[in-house]
Amino acid sequence: MEKKNKKPRGGGSGSRCIICGEARDGLEVREDRVIRVMRYFKQNVTKNAKNYRLVVCRACYPKYDKYRSTYVKKQVSYVVVAVIFAALLIIVSGGQPSAFAYGIAIIIFMYLLSLLSYTPAVNLPPGAKPPAAKGRKQPA
Ligand SMILES: [Zn+2]
Repeated sequence: MEKKNKKPRGGGSGSRCIICGEARDGLEVREDRVIRVMRYFKQNVTKNAKNYRLVVCRACYPKYDKYRSTYVKKQVSYVVVAVIFAALLIIVSGGQPSAFAYGIAIIIFMYLLSLLSYTPAVNLPPGAKPPAAKGRKQPA
């Protein structure tokens, strides 16, 4: 419980948009490993966990969608490149154990690198299509 005078903005009931950072309602971010690690880190290391519900608000959805697809593509290509590189390394080295270790290190490194642009998935309501990217005239 935080006892500081918090300023409620918008209709957010403790939820916060991950794109614009405003307290707004929206599509809930799916809690995955990366989110859990980040939350753990905030709670135990920086001690400033706010425990907001993470969402993507409607106004930011088109932007979010772009980020997300860029991130997914980037992560896939990073990992593919890393795997090819690791395989080449192992082949060139003639299958030395140290080459396997380097290969794994490269894959982990590239994976971590791809997390720099981490964009989590959101929970879309079942049967609902994501809001269209065009015609943005939301009453803010
Ligand atoms: Zn937003």
